[in-house]
Amino acid sequence: MNIDSIRTGYVIDHITAGKGMELYRLLGLEGLSCPIAIIQYAPSRKMGKKDIIKIDADMPLNFDVIGFVDPGATVNIIRDSRLVEKKTLALPRILRNVVKCKNPRCITSTEQELDHVFRLTDKGQKVYRCIYCDTKNG
Ligand code: ZN
Repeated sequence: MNIDSIRTGYVIDHITAGKGMELYRLLGLEGLSCPIAIIQYAPSRKMGKKDIIKIDADMPLNFDVIGFVDPGATVNIIRDSRLVEKKTLALPRILRNVVKCKNPRCITSTEQELDHVFRLTDKGQKVYRCIYCDTKNG
C-alpha cells in the first residue's frame, strides 16, 4: 500500500503523539481487512510530533470516537484520490457504546443489551458521566 495515494478513505491527521493506537483500537480498525497505516511520532511543524492513521477503504467512521480520544485531530476525507472534506472535531456531547461503565453495580453490567451511554458534563475537564449511574469516565 502506498500510504500517500489513498483512493477512497480517510487520513486522520494531527493526532496527539502516542494516541494513535488507542484511537485505532476504539475505532475497531483491528478487525478490518483493508489497508490501514498508523504512523507514530511523525515530525510535525505545528505539533512537534503527531500520529497519523490512514485508511484506504470506503467505510463508516465514528467521528464521535475520534473527537472523544482527540478533539484536536482532523479528518481528511478522500474520494477518487481527491480531498473532498477536511473535518475538524470536537468533544462529542454524548458517547454511545464507545467506552463501558466501570461501576460493577451499574445497570449496564447486568443488562447486557443496554447501550453504554455517557454524557459530557464538563467540557473544560473532559468529564463524561454514565447516564445510568453517574460514574465518571474519561
Ligand atoms: Zn454506569
